[in-house]
Amino acid sequence: IRYKEGVGWHEAAVQPRVALTLDPATAVLHYAQEIFEGMKAYRTPEGGAALFRPFANAERFARSADRMAMAPLPERLFVEAVRQLVKADRDWIPDGPDGSLYLRPFMIASEVFLGVRPSQEYLFAVIASAVGSYFKGSGNGTVTVWVSDDYCRAGPGGTGAAKCGGNYAASLKAQAEAQAMGCDQVVFLDAAERRYVEELGGMNVFFVMDDDSLVTPPLGDILPGITRESVMVLARDMGLGVREEPYAIEAWRADAASGRLTEAFACGTAAVITPIGRLRSKAGDVTIGDGAPGRLSMRLRDALIGIQRGRTSDPYGWMEKVF
Ligand code: PMP
Repeated sequence: IRYKEGVGWHEAAVQPRVALTLDPATAVLHYAQEIFEGMKAYRTPEGGAALFRPFANAERFARSADRMAMAPLPERLFVEAVRQLVKADRDWIPDGPDGSLYLRPFMIASEVFLGVRPSQEYLFAVIASAVGSYFKGSGNGTVTVWVSDDYCRAGPGGTGAAKCGGNYAASLKAQAEAQAMGCDQVVFLDAAERRYVEELGGMNVFFVMDDDSLVTPPLGDILPGITRESVMVLARDMGLGVREEPYAIEAWRADAASGRLTEAFACGTAAVITPIGRLRSKAGDVTIGDGAPGRLSMRLRDALIGIQRGRTSDPYGWMEKVF
């Protein structure tokens, strides 16, 4: 779907994937005016397909567009575009227990001009790709994370809460460093004090304290994950305490060593809920709990996957049937 100032949204089409041809002066290539989403379509037990909370992705996309001074795409157009692609790609949705169709809606500034101002033309598109489970992990189903001391992902007043390509460009070096240290994900700290845990390279993070309550970093500079929000709802309904509050990296190390921190997990569309077994940093390594997947992490994971795959009831109305 294309947008032009004065014309509005037009040229909607579902078509086979083709290469995009861009003039070298296309705005997105120079000023990175680009946003995207990541979401999944799951096979239902009846052989149909359903999306997980697509209107939440549409809303976040609208907020990202606003932050990046881009044209607003009506939320129903966003969801309709995704639905039509899932229908067109119905034969590509995997049937297996881990498989799903990953969907990548994105929007780029497509006006051809050199000048620093918001573009007046945009291209919105969705592409799809069949995926299996995201992490190979350390063999026991946990991941190891690396604390980045040198790089931050976002700062106050910046674009941290928007899902824009530039945030990921800025985090590639830190993620590569984590990988070089043998870790699966990087942990970002806040830019102001380099003290409080924010999020991982592509996931939000939760801490389980004393086996009965969850702590997660507050919104602000982090991406407001749809999985994060869903986990808070599930946890509260299981009777667990949930607090959104700053958690310092020294506290993570100390609480893991003392045993007060019983579990930690990463969550996101790709990772669903993946337990964190070990925290590594220049200051040394600590194991979380006994290093194996925690009981509450797995209970929350099973609850979420059960809803997403249509194996349990969906009391929150999160699943949106496509066909
Ligand atoms: N933080 C970052 C930086 C991410 O890239 C993602 C993945 N979109 C998340 C958190 C988790 O968000 P969600 O649960 O909506 O996938």
